[in-house]
Amino acid sequence: MKKTGKKIAIVGAGQVGATTAYTLLLSGLVSDLVLIDLNEKKAQGEVLDLAHGIPLVPPADIKVGTYADCEGADIVILTAGANQKPGETRMDLTRKNVAVFKSIVPKVVKYAPNAILLVVTNPCDVLTYVTWKLSGLPSRQVLGSGTVLDTSRLRYLLSQHTGIDARNIHTYVLGEHGDTELPAWSLTSIAGMDMDEYCGLCADCEGNLSKTVKEEFHDAVRNAAYQIIEGKGATYYAVAVAVRRIVEAILRDEQSILTVSSLLTGQYGLYDVCLSLPCIMGVTGVEQTLPIHLSEEELQQLHASAAAIRAAIEDSGL
Ligand code: NAD
Repeated sequence: MKKTGKKIAIVGAGQVGATTAYTLLLSGLVSDLVLIDLNEKKAQGEVLDLAHGIPLVPPADIKVGTYADCEGADIVILTAGANQKPGETRMDLTRKNVAVFKSIVPKVVKYAPNAILLVVTNPCDVLTYVTWKLSGLPSRQVLGSGTVLDTSRLRYLLSQHTGIDARNIHTYVLGEHGDTELPAWSLTSIAGMDMDEYCGLCADCEGNLSKTVKEEFHDAVRNAAYQIIEGKGATYYAVAVAVRRIVEAILRDEQSILTVSSLLTGQYGLYDVCLSLPCIMGVTGVEQTLPIHLSEEELQQLHASAAAIRAAIEDSGL
């Protein structure tokens, strides 16, 4: 049977890794999927469960693998490590997950030096930086899922607020995938109109998207993971869809703009830190970080976010 698509390895067959595998299989974007986990029995169970749906989706091979099976992968997705327990922040996971990545990244790079490494494990920005350092790869080849998920959460909320299709809502959540992230309200628009102008068309909004509503949405996005974890113990569906979207943009060389986490090299005076800004994504990974215009307040928030990530990197045990 002829299969079209690409090879992807996922390290970490937990809730996020397995749901990502499921999402990728449904997408038809992959022809070869390898799941690697310290807990091989868990990976075997996930692979068997996923494999039983293969006759009903676009053709693909899926198997449990070792690091040697990363050879030839176009993308290696890193989801291994501890997740947040109720009340824990992403940054609380730093030292634990840096230790996990020290054991994983060199083995991945040994077998897949040409693969794009996509970091999902939290704290995502710190681990993207750590992965870049440990791998020795060019920075465009190492990225984190960053605020692609948070941006999707904000677009959803604005869609609910306005009644407009979320795909026609343009906005970006920037900075850390975590507590210091910021919505770029100055760049938020519908049909070329900024949000206040758009909401001026709507009688219910009293002329603008008020400061209170903006703060409410910012809080809702920032605290979404805490709320979901409180309810069901972990988050995995929306992040898996976000990862699928990033994979799609890379494999199809789409030149799509996504808020992935990547190494900053002087943008806004920021160096030696990974965080999310709108990036052009293509077959080589992060092809360009766009120098978008931010308000003074947003710039200050971005710098504060970068400082928080930088402090965590310093304290990470790297
Ligand atoms: P999980 O506990 O369900 O799965 C983690 C898996 O990693 C386990 O199967 C475990 O055996 C494996 N693992 C641990 N150490 C390993 C090692 N050294 N080598 C190989 N495998 C190893 O956790 P989860 O809910 O799938 O979350 C995984 C990570 O993703 C967490 O850090 C979580 O915070 C993060 N996450 C990120 C986002 C995002 O938007 N970036 C969203 C949700 C979750």
